[in-house]
Parts: sequence; C-alpha cells; structure tokens
Amino acid sequence: MSYVSDVLEKVIVKNPAQPEFVQAVKEVLESLEPVIEANPQYQKEAILERITEPERQLMFRVPWVDDNGKVQVNRGFRIQFNSAIGPYKGGLRLHPSVNLGIIKFLGFEQIFKNSLTGLPIGGGKGGSDFDPKGKSDREVMAFCQSFMTELFRHIGQDTDVPAGDIGTGAREIGYLFGQYKRLKNQYEGVLTGKGLTYGGSLARKEATGYGLLYITNELMKDHDMSLEGKTVCVSGAGNVAIYAAEKAAQLGAKVVTLTDSTGWIYDAEGIDLDAVKEIKEVKRARLSEYKNYRPNAEYNEGKFLWTIPCDVALPCATQNELDVEGAQNLINNKVTAVCEGANMPTTLEATKLLQGAGVLFVPGKAANAGGVATSALEMSQNSMRLSWTFEEVDQKLEGIMVNIYHNIANAAKKYGFEGNYVVGANIAGFVKVADTMIAQGVV
Ligand code: NDP
Repeated sequence: MSYVSDVLEKVIVKNPAQPEFVQAVKEVLESLEPVIEANPQYQKEAILERITEPERQLMFRVPWVDDNGKVQVNRGFRIQFNSAIGPYKGGLRLHPSVNLGIIKFLGFEQIFKNSLTGLPIGGGKGGSDFDPKGKSDREVMAFCQSFMTELFRHIGQDTDVPAGDIGTGAREIGYLFGQYKRLKNQYEGVLTGKGLTYGGSLARKEATGYGLLYITNELMKDHDMSLEGKTVCVSGAGNVAIYAAEKAAQLGAKVVTLTDSTGWIYDAEGIDLDAVKEIKEVKRARLSEYKNYRPNAEYNEGKFLWTIPCDVALPCATQNELDVEGAQNLINNKVTAVCEGANMPTTLEATKLLQGAGVLFVPGKAANAGGVATSALEMSQNSMRLSWTFEEVDQKLEGIMVNIYHNIANAAKKYGFEGNYVVGANIAGFVKVADTMIAQGVV
C-alpha cells in the first residue's frame, strides 16, 4: 500500500462522521502522490500524518438570551490547524449546518490556500451552528459576545487572527472585536474584515470576488482568450458572489445568474447589482425580490442546476453545490472555465467530469485566496498603524492572484500534470508548508 493510501485510510478511521473533512483530505493527498514519491523525506518525517491532524481543536458552549428572554445554546468551534508558516488565519462561519467535520475541512483547505498567497499565515477556521438569519441585531450581539467570551483566551494578533465567512459579515466582526477589546483591555488587530474606522482595510469586502476574477482573467489570457463579451453564471448572492459579479462586469463580461438558499435569478440582460446589493446587503432579504426591480428577469425556487448556457461558471455559495448533474449541464452547454469562489463547491466526481471534458478548472484554494490575502494585508496595515488606499490594496491583490495562477500552473507542469490546476495548487501549497515543518523539527 502506498504511503498516501495508508495515511488516507487512517484519516477515515480516525474521523468517523466527518465526510467533508475526509473528502478534502482525499482530494489533496491523492494529488500529492508525485511529490511524495519524489521526496521520501516527507514519509520519514510523517508529514502527511502530522498535516492531517490539527494542532489544536476547540469546542465550546455558547449560551445567550434571545429577545423573548429564553436561553439559547449553540456550539462554538475553532480549529488551529497548522502554524508552520505563520499565525493561524481563517474565517468564522455562522450557519446551522456547521459541525466539527465542516470546520476541519475548511481549516485543512486553509493551510494550503494561505501558503499559496505567499504571505506568512498559517491555517485555521472556526464558527458555530448559530443562524444569524432572522435574528435581531441585539440577538446577534448577544451571541457574538458570548462566543468571544470563550474564544478570546485562544486568539491574538500573533497567535490566531479570525475573519468573516458565511454568516459573518461586518456587523458580526464589529461585535466580536468590541468584546475582545473589552475582555483583553488591548486594542490589536485580532480580527480582519473590521470596519474602516477601527483598523479595517479598504478593498477587503471586495477582495475574494475581485481576486476570483483576477485569476480567471489570467487563466483566460494564458489560453489566448479574454472575459470581454463572455457570459458568466455565478452562484451565491453573498459577499463573494456579489463582488465576483461586479468585477466580471467591469472586465466586460455579462453575469446572468445569482442564487441564494431558496432560489435563483436569471437576467438575460445582465444582473443589476445595485438591486442585488440593496436586497442582500441592506434589507437582508431573499432574491425573490429581484423581480420587483427587474420585471423581465426570471426567479426560480429551489436549487440551481447550472442549466443556463455560459462560457464561465463561478460557484460562490457553499460546499458541494456543483454536482455531477450540474457539471454535465455545463459541459453540454460548452462551458470554457469553472473557477471556484466558494470553498469546495464542486464535488470530487463533478471536478473529474469537468477536467475530463477539457474544461479549465481552478480550485477554490487558489481562486478564492484573494480574501485571506487581503486579510493578511489588513494585518500588515494594523501592525504599521497606517492604511493603504483602495487602489494600493487592489493592485497588491491583483499581483498576488496573478502570481498564484503562475505558481500553480508551473507546479502542475513540473510534475507532468500541465493544465491540472487542482494538482498544481495542492503541490505548490503543500511543499512550502511541508518543508517548513521539517525545518522546525518534530512539533
Ligand atoms: P455569505 O454568507 O456572504 O453568502 C453565502 C451565499 O451562499 C448566500 O447567498 C447564501 O444564501 C448562499 N448559501 C449559503 N449556504 C447555502 C446552502 N447550504 N445552500 C444554498 N445556498 C447557500 O458568504 P460568503 O460569500 O462570504 O462565502 C461564500 C463561500 O465563499 C463560502 O464557501 C466561503 O467559505 C467562501 N469564501 C469566502 C471568503 C470571504 O472572504 N467571504 C473567502 C474565501 C472563501 P442566503 O442568502 O439565502 O443565505
């Protein structure tokens, strides 16, 4: 049995009932075979056993009182996965589907993503099964304060710097930061995604979506194409999806779909983003309202199956949203490229199907790294106690994404997998972390 298969088997046995974590580990480990074979030292140093075991896993009770005076109890998580190349860094997800396996898959992916940015940040992730949807601001604040009352003792600007993710936007980061400052009596850049008046970075809100388009644009250029005049399907209608759609339009493409957890919109003339921002960012309402702004658009209840013909597909909602059926629909409609804005939105089978059909496919750990990269730029600005302009941050972000594209393309080529950006991203992200772990001894 190969070293990779042996470790994978152990991971499956040791982590029962964590299918998303096992899926993420399988995807990474299997694509590392060539680099593992070429470097026996990784096996000797048990790098795969170590890298698949979080350095620390925190799980805690989060009690809070709702607006009816009733006590509610949620479960909080923080996985400090790997600190070889820098302090743990990764978002906090607030969604009822959150459990240990989901946070571990996200934390594991984050190790390689953070490494790919070229910045000194380790991998971590956290969150809770709390659902901010339909809660009052006071209830969200009560939850955030209770969550931070445990978390504060485990994080810090040089230890672990959480950020936003699904369900955690500027409002939640503000409440979390306020409680940290109060408990620690210290004003430090312990969270990213902060408001601009207290250490936030310009362009952080836009960074993941814009970054996704910068890498997509570079991919197209490298294949003698451009985004100009292309039709793009985006899924999701949150932070990543909205700013991906915005940058796609700025680069001359036409975005025709967006989705949320209840349905999806199709606007053949191109999505009106001002309307979407008002619905999702201001009113926190459902996409079904879009028809009030654009009566000619279509609204459909239920899951989007990628049935609308497009040149480029950008899944930006959640894990495993693009399955074999969706991938087959995209292939039938002759899609050119699929670039992941969300984390692991494409199932393993769908990824293989797309790659087998010759579709250019860039995985999330490379394509959505712009968010965490800009978070690291926020950390730099906090340390220097100064702020860069929007243009300065945006320019650095574009440089980082272009660099990531070439790094993953070159890594794939070096090991004989030219054009396979999944293999390229895993290898390029892994080697730096693995070599650093060896340099730091058995820790
Ligand atoms: P948001 O909460 O802002 O938006 C998420 C969107 O996806 C919403 O439109 C939501 O619908 C929809 N959605 C969430 N869960 C489901 C589900 N189970 N089924 C169908 N639709 C769903 O999150 P973000 O935009 O920040 O994150 C989206 C993805 O991108 C996640 O995978 C996240 O981990 C990843 N990511 C985010 C980064 C960031 O900087 N924000 C950085 C890197 C990756 P509804 O509106 O109904 O809630």
